[in-house]
Amino acid sequence: MKKIEVYKCIFCSEIFDDRDECTIHEQVCPERMDTMTCLNCKFYRDSTLLFQPGGLASIPICLRNIDISEGFKQQCDNYIDDAASIGKSILKQAERNFDPTSLFKMLMRDLFPNNENGNDFELPF
Ligand SMILES: [Zn+2]
Repeated sequence: MKKIEVYKCIFCSEIFDDRDECTIHEQVCPERMDTMTCLNCKFYRDSTLLFQPGGLASIPICLRNIDISEGFKQQCDNYIDDAASIGKSILKQAERNFDPTSLFKMLMRDLFPNNENGNDFELPF
């Protein structure tokens, strides 16, 4: 047995065995309010979808139609963490204007990577 020293992010509590790695992470930790990351943004929605027979898929959604499927943005120009500062109508408008098509296509590609239609999945709506 060997006792090891680890480092914990002060924002999200993730554990690192390397001090430098932890330091770098803390500068961009998604749970930091001042990194203006999707997790704290009012335009962010985390959608978990249920597929039969029982598969789950979680899709991060930006109501501004910014692709965050590969990872959260930081220092985003559309970032807003205070809904009062933009007003509820802006949020409602973003929800109305949100286009889920690209998200569904991406999801279908993940679920059926060998589909012959490739990127051209027909949506049922
Ligand atoms: Zn962290």
